Amino acid sequence: MVRAIVGANWGDEGKGKITDMLAKESDIIVRFQGGSNAGHTIINNYGKFALHLLPSGVFYGHTTSVIGNGVALNIPYLFKEIQSLVDRGVPKPKILVSDRAQILMPYHILFDAYEEERLAGKSFGSTKSGIAPFYSDKYAKIGFQVSELFDEVALKDKLSRVCEVKNIMLEHLYHKPLLDADELFQTMMEYRDMVAPYVCDVSKYLYEAIKEGKNILLEGQLGSLKDPDHGIYPMVTSSSTLAAYGAIGAGIPPYEIKNITTVVKAYSSAVGAGAFVSEIFGDEADELRRRGGDGGEFGATTGRPRRMGWFDAVATRYGCRIQGATEVALTVLDVLGYLDELPICIGYEIDGEVTKDFPTTAKLEKAKPVYTKLPGWKCDIRGIRKYEELPENCRNYIEFIEKEIGVPIKMVSNGPGRDDIILR
Ligand code: GDP
Repeated sequence: MVRAIVGANWGDEGKGKITDMLAKESDIIVRFQGGSNAGHTIINNYGKFALHLLPSGVFYGHTTSVIGNGVALNIPYLFKEIQSLVDRGVPKPKILVSDRAQILMPYHILFDAYEEERLAGKSFGSTKSGIAPFYSDKYAKIGFQVSELFDEVALKDKLSRVCEVKNIMLEHLYHKPLLDADELFQTMMEYRDMVAPYVCDVSKYLYEAIKEGKNILLEGQLGSLKDPDHGIYPMVTSSSTLAAYGAIGAGIPPYEIKNITTVVKAYSSAVGAGAFVSEIFGDEADELRRRGGDGGEFGATTGRPRRMGWFDAVATRYGCRIQGATEVALTVLDVLGYLDELPICIGYEIDGEVTKDFPTTAKLEKAKPVYTKLPGWKCDIRGIRKYEELPENCRNYIEFIEKEIGVPIKMVSNGPGRDDIILR
C-alpha cells in the first residue's frame, strides 16, 4: 500500500512528525521532490532533529529510506546529514538513491545567491539552497543525473559545455568568478565515490516492493500553496509539492497511491514572500509565533521567523482538494489553548464580493479575510489520547474545520512528540 503524506498549506504543517509516526508501520519511505531547502523537525527517543534531505523514517531500524528521482540531490549535504545522525547515536539508516535523481551542483547554490543579490528588494525569499537554478537546469536539459557520474568521458565533455554557458552569465550578468570545468570534474568524482554504494534503480525497486505488498510512504515537502502550478505563483517552490507528483518523483504508477494523508495546521504560518490573507501582525502575531510549533515558529532551514495567521479555511479547502486528500491530520492544535476566541477565515472579499474559492495570484493579492469566531477552550490539551476527552470547544473547532474543508480529520496532533496523537 502506498500512502502519500503531503501539506495542504504553505509548508511546516508538521509532515515530519506524522511521517516519523507512520513510518513505524512502514517498510519504505520515499522523498519525491524538493531538496535541502525546507526542513522537518522530528522529536523522538534519540532527541530533536531537523532533517532536510533524508526522509523522516530514518530513525527506525526496519525502514529503507529512498531519495527518489524527483529530488534535488545535494550529495555532500546528504552525507553530512547521515553523519550527524550517526554522531548522535542513531543507527546508520539504510538508504537508496535513485540513479535518475539529478545532482544539485555547487554552482546552483552560487547562482541562487547571486540572483537574490541581483533582485535585491524584489527577491522571492529563496533559501539559497540552489533549488530554483537546479530545476531550471533540469528542464533546460543541462542537468546531471546520478547515472552520468559513472561515464567519465561523457561527463567531462558535458561539464565543459555547461561551464561555457554558465560562465557567460557569471561574467556579464553577475560579475562573479568563473567556473573551472576541471575543478568541477574533480568535485564530481568525489560525489561519485560518496554516492556509489547507494545508487539504485529506484522505480524497479519500488515496483517489486509494491508487488510484495510492502507499506510505502511518499513524504512531501512544503505544501499545496507552494506548488508551481497550483500555488501562489511565482512565490512558490520549483518542484511540485502535490501527491500526484509522488508518482513521478518516485517512479510508481499513480493509481498505486491509495491514501493521501494531508497535513493541515490548526493555524496558519508561512515563510518567504507572497499573499497571505489571514496574516496577523504585532503582539498578536508575536505571541502565536512564540508559542507555536515546538519552541516557536522559526524556519527549520533558515531560522527566519515565520509569518503567522489565523486558520484559513478557503486556502485549506483548496489545498486539500488539489492534493486529493483522502484524510486529514490536524496538527499543533495544543498551541491554541491560550486564546479566548479563535478567528477562522471562512471567505475572501475581493473587489466587494465574498468568495469561498481560492483565486489566482493577482486576485489573491486583493483579498481581505472574512472571519467567524469560535470560543476558545482555555486549557492545555497535551497528553490527551482520546477524542471524547478533548474539551467541547476544542472539538467544536475541529469539527467546524472538518465541515469547512470537507475531508475527514482522522488524526489530531496535540504535541510535537511521536505519541502526541489522537486517532479518530
Ligand atoms: P514539516 O516541514 O511539515 O515537517 O513541519 P516542520 O517540522 O517544519 O514544522 C512543524 C513544527 O511543529 C516542528 O517544530 C514540530 O516539532 C512541531 N509540531 C508538529 N506537530 C506538533 C503538534 O501537534 N504540536 C506542537 N506543539 N508542535 C508540533
